[in-house]
Amino acid sequence: MGDTIFSKIIKREIPADIVYETDDILAFRDIRPQAPVHILIIPKIEIPKITDIDGNKHAQLLGKLFDAANMLAKEMKIDEDGFRLVLNCGNNGGQDVYHLHMHLLGGRQMKWPPG
Ligand code: AMP
Repeated sequence: MGDTIFSKIIKREIPADIVYETDDILAFRDIRPQAPVHILIIPKIEIPKITDIDGNKHAQLLGKLFDAANMLAKEMKIDEDGFRLVLNCGNNGGQDVYHLHMHLLGGRQMKWPPG
């Protein structure tokens, strides 16, 4: 497994506010929240970025990430008002951590276009 900050969180080498975990997935609160609810949902296997996704190979895992997002949105009571899921890719996408992650953002009105 790689040595991104998220693989260290998976291995419990650094602390995180974990809100959900399965054999395949981990979800924890973002350390610099951009909304009242800001949770990162990550696969435990190392997929650095969107362009490393193989649709056939990772289809089930991606489904589980969306299931986790829906479940957490309900649990955080942001499902009815709405929320935003964000996956940043690469430099122009604003990706800082090269371990695939989905941002679940909610609890306030989101703007468009994004910054
Ligand atoms: P991105 O810019 O899409 O790669 O998002 C990376 C996110 O990881 C940012 O929103 C950071 O605030 C968040 N982050 C970085 N380090 C940690 C950490 N130790 N615990 C929780 N979130 C973190």
